Amino acid sequence: MDDNSNYLHPQYETMSIDDIRDLQLERLQSTVRQCMKSPFYKKRFEEAGLKPDDIQSLEDLRKIPFTTKQDLRDTYPFGMASVPLRQCVRLHSSSGTTGNPTVILHTQKDLDEWANQVARNLWMVGLRPDDVFQNSSGYGMFTGGLGFQYGAERLGMLTIPAAAGNSLRQIKFMTDFGTTAVHAVPSYVTRLYEVMKESGIDPRKDTKLKVLAIGAEPHSEEQRKRIEDMLGVKAYNSFGMSEMCGPGVGFECKEQNGLHFWEDYYIVEIVDPETLEPVPDGEIGELVLTTLNREAMPLLRYRTRDLTRVLGHSCPCGRNHIRLDRMRGRSDDMMVLRGVNIFPIQIEKILMQFKELASNYLITLTTDDDNDNMTVEVELEELFTDDFQRLLKLEKDIQRKLKDEILLTPHVKLVPKGSLPVSEGKAVRVIDKRKVYQ
Ligand code: AMP
Ligand code: ZN
Repeated sequence: MDDNSNYLHPQYETMSIDDIRDLQLERLQSTVRQCMKSPFYKKRFEEAGLKPDDIQSLEDLRKIPFTTKQDLRDTYPFGMASVPLRQCVRLHSSSGTTGNPTVILHTQKDLDEWANQVARNLWMVGLRPDDVFQNSSGYGMFTGGLGFQYGAERLGMLTIPAAAGNSLRQIKFMTDFGTTAVHAVPSYVTRLYEVMKESGIDPRKDTKLKVLAIGAEPHSEEQRKRIEDMLGVKAYNSFGMSEMCGPGVGFECKEQNGLHFWEDYYIVEIVDPETLEPVPDGEIGELVLTTLNREAMPLLRYRTRDLTRVLGHSCPCGRNHIRLDRMRGRSDDMMVLRGVNIFPIQIEKILMQFKELASNYLITLTTDDDNDNMTVEVELEELFTDDFQRLLKLEKDIQRKLKDEILLTPHVKLVPKGSLPVSEGKAVRVIDKRKVYQ
């Protein structure tokens, strides 16, 4: 592969929209045929009075019923498999962000394609075989570990499977081995930076870091900018989910104008979560994905619960694969407080605008005297507890800005840096202690 090429898979990455659609139809038809080997889909199609031959155009996709996480749970563990188990070489179980685990099976071909997807993304943001890639994700059921590992190896980089936690060791690896690229969940990057500061390491001078892949959890544009400023790197948003393979499903290009979702691997639909009808480009809805290149466990019209919108199709980078906005969160992350719908990311966006605040925060919902309340605890960048007037003013300013955003006035509590819990995996941003009235 020519290092100067912008594309790892030019044949697929630079396809025209028409060619993408032709390829999608061809792959959709073979995916549907593959699905007929799974007891689940065979029954689904029979119940819907649908035959594989009924899918003659991409519009016909809408004849196919949606697949939900509940379907995956109901068929636990192997009811969705489209190949005999002896052909499968790996099983991942979802980290269970919500509820019971689910099982995802992979053949060797599935794993190869997954590695190709991740390699394509890393190449897209400028990484080449000379780079040194460190992965701070947990290795195990969380697909961010093995997913990035095989993708970075496929690209040909020297890889450091550091795994999660032990920040001092992570930083030592970075400085000693000349790490140029890191994959991390965004909430962990800010923790790493703190430890660097405490150990007298200046990431700009003492490391060769230039690219970060951040993802696996919702984060705001403000959070990304902070990460870029702190470490002196470019941080690219990486979207993945176990059901679709893991990381590699969508990734930002150097334009940082939304995530390219790879349409040679997936069909993307954005639907109204209530009516399940498609929403026009630009409007927020639920992301629905159909896999186009999977053997062991293809999924048709899978309701991800993630909320986003279409930003566009073409891009100055030369790729015509659909661009989606950063995820707002999952529909199940939405808090309903006194009838108002609120996403944690809306709160983060405001908090990150205050220079005085560090990046860690926690939202607690409580019922006090029969009223539901929200308390936002956020860490201070520097302690100035001796200056009460300043603290009070800052709390009021934050409260006012939050009210403008979420239309409710939360309690704001400024706490010393390091006092809120840090998770090694996905950050826990909301604790709901409200009374439930029956
Ligand atoms: P899991 O399959 O358990 O790793 O979780 C997948 C879920 O993580 C997705 O459905 C999203 O809700 C969330 N997620 C993954 N990547 C991102 C991202 N870049 N931005 C926001 N949420 C993400
Ligand atoms: Zn692009």
